[in-house]
Amino acid sequence: MQLLVVEDDNSIAEPLLDGLKREGFDTFRVETGEAALAADPVDLVLLDLGLPDMDGKDVCRALRDRSDVPIIVVTARGDEIDRVVLLELGADDYIVKPFGFRELVARIRAVHRRSSGNSGSEDAEQRLGELVIDRRARHVSVGGRQIMLTPKEFDLLTLLAEDPGAVRTREEIMDEVWDPHWYGPTKTLDVHMASLRKKLGDPAWIITIRGVGFRLDVPA
Ligand code: CA
Repeated sequence: MQLLVVEDDNSIAEPLLDGLKREGFDTFRVETGEAALAADPVDLVLLDLGLPDMDGKDVCRALRDRSDVPIIVVTARGDEIDRVVLLELGADDYIVKPFGFRELVARIRAVHRRSSGNSGSEDAEQRLGELVIDRRARHVSVGGRQIMLTPKEFDLLTLLAEDPGAVRTREEIMDEVWDPHWYGPTKTLDVHMASLRKKLGDPAWIITIRGVGFRLDVPA
């Protein structure tokens, strides 16, 4: 999926682009409204409303006038923006800064899925042994029994499930499930991981690599 990120703030754009590329998105960035309007067609636009040269709302309207590309608007907290304004602008969804990276990726996938008229059924469900993860419905079951996860636990599980068997470091997990640039203590990660493990019913689902991170494994 080709993604255009319209964002003038380097401190937001740089980690965001790194993350989106890691997620496999073909991502490029422009810093102004003018450049956004001059860019080649893409599959989805992530549009910051606070741009240096133009009102982001005008950029959104202009993009919408020329194509039906899905648009996710990024607003700063406190911006007066509501659903009605968004519809008038032609945006498909919006996200408020500061936002969690996993939440953004979930929105991108959801908006893209809706716009492509794809039910998503072929990639919505992931099966790993007894574990079934339905990202679209945010449902998880083990051995046919649905388990209730908190949003953070769900994000943790889906992150580990993206590449079963691969170790995700504590830093990566904090970055992606909590906030980019998390400098605080990471004990909260252990607390959520312990709870997730308990809900999965078998501690062997999540292997701790001491001092490094975690990986998801199908228990033998
Ligand atoms: Ca901005």
